[in-house]
Amino acid sequence: MTLEYYKKKREFKKTPEPKPKVEKTGLARFVVQEHHASQLHWDFRLEMDGVLKSWAVPKGVPEIPNVKRLAVQVEDHPVDYISFQGKIPEGEYGAGTVKIWDKGIYKMFHDTPKIIDFELSGKRLKGNYIMVHTRANQWIIFKKNK
Ligand code: MN
Repeated sequence: MTLEYYKKKREFKKTPEPKPKVEKTGLARFVVQEHHASQLHWDFRLEMDGVLKSWAVPKGVPEIPNVKRLAVQVEDHPVDYISFQGKIPEGEYGAGTVKIWDKGIYKMFHDTPKIIDFELSGKRLKGNYIMVHTRANQWIIFKKNK
């Protein structure tokens, strides 16, 4: 899902969120944002190809190996979103507060449409993770046993 969806869903005169822009930094960063929207969830984002590939994880990215969590892929976000924290106003898409729960860098080992395999080096999340594409926009994320 491209940045076009990101743009369509938002009113940039009303939301403090970054404007859509593809930006190739050459970095491989990740962020997890705790999002107190109508339904609390955690947004997991990987910097790839000039955007942030994004998933909403209702129960959060697991810190313990073999705990499987649903991750729903959502629209790509601009790279600037990696440092976004704040309040999305009421009435706007994703209304509620956003705070950074963890951030760091990652190393990609395998990246295919069905499975991605990477290592996270954050403050809280450290280690090898697998994401498996199950159907439509749904993925499963889990931490691999060492
Ligand atoms: Mn969200």
